[in-house]
Amino acid sequence: MLLTEPQAGSDVGSLTTTATRNPDGAFNITGSKIFITAGDQNLTENIIHPVLARIEGAPAGTKGISIFIVPKVWVNPDGTPGDTSDVVCTGIEEKMGIHGSATCSLTLGGRGKCRGLLLGEENKGMKVMFHLMNEARLGVGLQAFSMSSAAYMAALNYARERIQGKSLLAMMNPASPSVPIIQHPDVRRMLTWMKAHIDGMRSFIYYIGYCFDRVAVSKTDADRDMFQGLIEIMTPVVKSYCSDRAFEVCTQAVQVFGGYGYTREYPVEQLLRDCKITSIYEGANGIQAMYLLGRKLGMKKGACFMGLLAEMQKTIATAKTIDALSDLATKTEAGVNRLAEVAMSLGMNAMSPQVMSAFAFAQPFLDVVGDVIMAWMHLWRTVAAAPRLEKLAGSLTPDARKSAAQTNRQAAYYEGVLKTAEFYIRAVFPIAMGKMNAITDFSTAAVDMPDMALGG
Ligand SMILES: Cc1cc2nc3c(=O)[nH]c(=O)nc-3n(C[C@H](O)[C@H](O)[C@H](O)COP(=O)(O)OP(=O)(O)OC[C@H]3O[C@@H](n4cnc5c(N)ncnc54)[C@H](O)[C@@H]3O)c2cc1C
Repeated sequence: MLLTEPQAGSDVGSLTTTATRNPDGAFNITGSKIFITAGDQNLTENIIHPVLARIEGAPAGTKGISIFIVPKVWVNPDGTPGDTSDVVCTGIEEKMGIHGSATCSLTLGGRGKCRGLLLGEENKGMKVMFHLMNEARLGVGLQAFSMSSAAYMAALNYARERIQGKSLLAMMNPASPSVPIIQHPDVRRMLTWMKAHIDGMRSFIYYIGYCFDRVAVSKTDADRDMFQGLIEIMTPVVKSYCSDRAFEVCTQAVQVFGGYGYTREYPVEQLLRDCKITSIYEGANGIQAMYLLGRKLGMKKGACFMGLLAEMQKTIATAKTIDALSDLATKTEAGVNRLAEVAMSLGMNAMSPQVMSAFAFAQPFLDVVGDVIMAWMHLWRTVAAAPRLEKLAGSLTPDARKSAAQTNRQAAYYEGVLKTAEFYIRAVFPIAMGKMNAITDFSTAAVDMPDMALGG
């Protein structure tokens, strides 16, 4: 889709590409676009460009934007390729990563011959654009997650093979053999951190998919609205949280590889570079955070957000009925309750004269919403895994779990679910509690800082 122009990035409303109506009802389009994914390529016979432009005389800003269909090649009535559109690739952006994706600048109507057909109604282009964009945002979250999952698998395999250093327990014995780095506590910490984020993100992405299914099959309006509300709240979080965390996972993967990770011999440096774009395109993450705080949090008087917290409470209640999970459930519950307070406090500030400072906390807020969702997802995973592990191990005592996990692959998988959840909720999640304290402490320093005091 052709939105971006040099002066119109996040601020789509400032685009200047224009459309003039022709006598036949089609439009003549003139303008320049940049950074267009698959803007030109010869892998397919044709390219259909959806183009955002302003019809002459339309209002300024997003209210005056329409969307047009411009095919690279017009198709004759008999299905044969016809005239080529006046859309010219004027440059290829030299990118940091995703070199397999053709990104380019395009000039439309340089020869006055770019014909487009209006898609939908005049000045209602943003609505059509968001239809595609919301799906694309979920796709970007999935893309980021997938790259981080690949990076984790590469790091895990490497950690099993790379022999370096002696076991901490045999440090003083020069005759002791060197061990695979997976045996070092700090490497295990990195791998477990990566696994915790990947498992949490995977469940989160599946969960939003499940919400789409529920919307499709719901028999009552109330049920449909509830799941649609969850989708509204979670879409910016899937896009933003998963892309930010995925990049951190890829960074950790490079770290596990040591110096080799920094070379092109191994795949992780590419995954790190490729992953970075996911926090920028389809609406930069800062913009996603503003959507969450400015539009989604207060949607239906806060009912969508409260609906999300209520779903979390259901899982917590179930987890509390399983002895082995009650501590994790209590810790997750404390996080969910704290998030409700934080949302209330930040929401109030966003509607006060402190609005600028409130929006300086939009990203930290999205971040902790994501952290709490991750704790919830991990707890949910344990609720599913614990009874299955109990069946395989005979009981959920630490000894029974350990010995079952040593001999039975399935038991090892379920034990992995429980241990990963324990790691996330006990060793990572407390940081989210601190981040939430920082939001309610509400320092206005970032906004108060005089521009000159930032240095330079
Ligand atoms: C590889 C690649 C592929 C792309 N593919 C496409 C495509 O197919 N089609 C297309 O139309 N575009 C595409 N883009 C463009 C992409 O969507 C934009 O780069 C992105 O929306 C950000 O716009 P910008 O680069 O102008 O940054 P800016 O808008 O200048 O933003 C710079 C920084 O300022 C922040 N910022 C900006 N405005 C605000 C605000 N009001 N409040 C708070 N923070 C703000 C942003 O969050 C960001 O951190 C692509 C870009 C790349 C790099």
